[in-house]
Amino acid sequence: FKVPEIHNEPMRAYAPGSAERKGLQDAIAQMEKELPFEVPCIVNGKEVKTGNIAKQAIPWDHAKHLCTYHEADPATVASAIDGALAAKAEWESMPWNDRAAIFLKAADLVSGKYRYKLMAATILGQGKNAWQAEIDAAAELTDFLRFGVKYVEELYAVQPPRNTSGSWNRVEYRALEGFVLAVSPFNFTAIGGNLPGAPALLGNVAVWKPSPAATYSNYIIYKIFEEAGVPPGVIQFVPGPPAEVVGQAIAHPEFAALHFTGSTFVFRKLWKDIASNLDKYRGYPRIVGETGGKNFHLVHPSAEIKNAVLQTVRAAFEYSGQKCSALSRIYVPSSLWNNGFKEQLLNEVASLKVGSYKDFTTFIGPVINRAAYDKIIGYIGKAKEAGGEVLVGGTGDDSTGYFVQPTVIQSKDPKSVTMVEEVFGPVLTVFVYEDNNWEQTLDLVNTSSQYGLTGSIFSTDRKALIQATNRLRNAAGNIYYNEKCTGAVVGQQPFGGARASGTNDKAGSISIYYRFVSARSIKENF
Ligand code: GLU
Repeated sequence: FKVPEIHNEPMRAYAPGSAERKGLQDAIAQMEKELPFEVPCIVNGKEVKTGNIAKQAIPWDHAKHLCTYHEADPATVASAIDGALAAKAEWESMPWNDRAAIFLKAADLVSGKYRYKLMAATILGQGKNAWQAEIDAAAELTDFLRFGVKYVEELYAVQPPRNTSGSWNRVEYRALEGFVLAVSPFNFTAIGGNLPGAPALLGNVAVWKPSPAATYSNYIIYKIFEEAGVPPGVIQFVPGPPAEVVGQAIAHPEFAALHFTGSTFVFRKLWKDIASNLDKYRGYPRIVGETGGKNFHLVHPSAEIKNAVLQTVRAAFEYSGQKCSALSRIYVPSSLWNNGFKEQLLNEVASLKVGSYKDFTTFIGPVINRAAYDKIIGYIGKAKEAGGEVLVGGTGDDSTGYFVQPTVIQSKDPKSVTMVEEVFGPVLTVFVYEDNNWEQTLDLVNTSSQYGLTGSIFSTDRKALIQATNRLRNAAGNIYYNEKCTGAVVGQQPFGGARASGTNDKAGSISIYYRFVSARSIKENF
């Protein structure tokens, strides 16, 4: 077995009149006709219908539901954990080639047979437009699966320490003892697949609690894993009340790792809960998390305005800012702000189409749910109270779907609430600095947020780019030059940040796989 050469999945353009646009439109229409779907828990490959029904609303039109789902109850979670542990011995001793073949097949199913179905579920259920769904549910998920195989192949091939005459040393990378708990977010369908998938590829078993707001797309991924040949029990699908399901799993003595993407608040709480359970466990659990951000664009006086504006609009407003990587604070020198930057930015933002998924030119869709809508509108209010000036947007309409207008706020205070706190919505706050305060601005960018996820620097002067990169050493795990701070590509820009943004284990790279193995050194004399 040789891992085939791996490339990033090519993105489709969905041009008007194209077969691919028709394919996606048909998949959406079919889903609209059949909804709401009924989603069970799946334990040991069998459907479990607990009768505790919850609903996944459609954020474009919240009177409708994409699916109803059965929430896992304590007995279901318990049997999911027992079943995963029972499935483990066979799965981890399966030849690596066979596990790899299963996940490569899953990648082919995502990129081929189920591409439009998975995208349709992501569009309807998670509020993405077609382009954002293509990036996520089609391209990134396929990439995670294919590159994962390449990285695990590399990890297993790591050369052992030096041999001496008469002895042979080798290192084995074994699956963790116990089970992995995967807790995935609503905002990336791809992350849903990757959180249980990456550990499973290494021979681990995973109990997977998807986000309630991504239940249906994540269920489709589960079914793809099953069709590709992931054996029953290896990945257990247990949607349910988050605190209860997760609380029960981390209280289990065989809990071995948490693979998490979600809010900083929840991650910190889980870390503390895990610490307080430590005496129950067999070992020290691995805790891997990617959480919030307060991501920046820093514009140097030498920057080219047009590009900086276009990148800014995309970073702040694609998927209504609901990416951990989304831009939410920007620092612009007054010389540029007053000479075209402000005007171009406001024109671009005012022209973004807020609308329906049926229209492929829609840029802004809804935010995910009522709680998100209220929180974002609340932040706009707080920014105004703090003296911020709303330059464009600032309002919402939740009568049908949860729509928030793309909003730009100018703040005279670089530490005002929306300059420092994560909003997770289509709200960009601008701080205009005097050109000769570039150095102080570097300090501001560095120190005014607790996060460290992504950031971009715009300059035509390479010296300024390097100076800023050096000074902002821990302000972002992903830095971009003259480009938006979102859209890390698997295999190209390993993704993740430190500080309050997570454990910086870099999804989309080999690093993450080391967290889900336990190494053993073996010395043999002969
Ligand atoms: N990897 C994505 C990006 O670079 C963001 C993932 C997230 O929001 O968790 O835009």
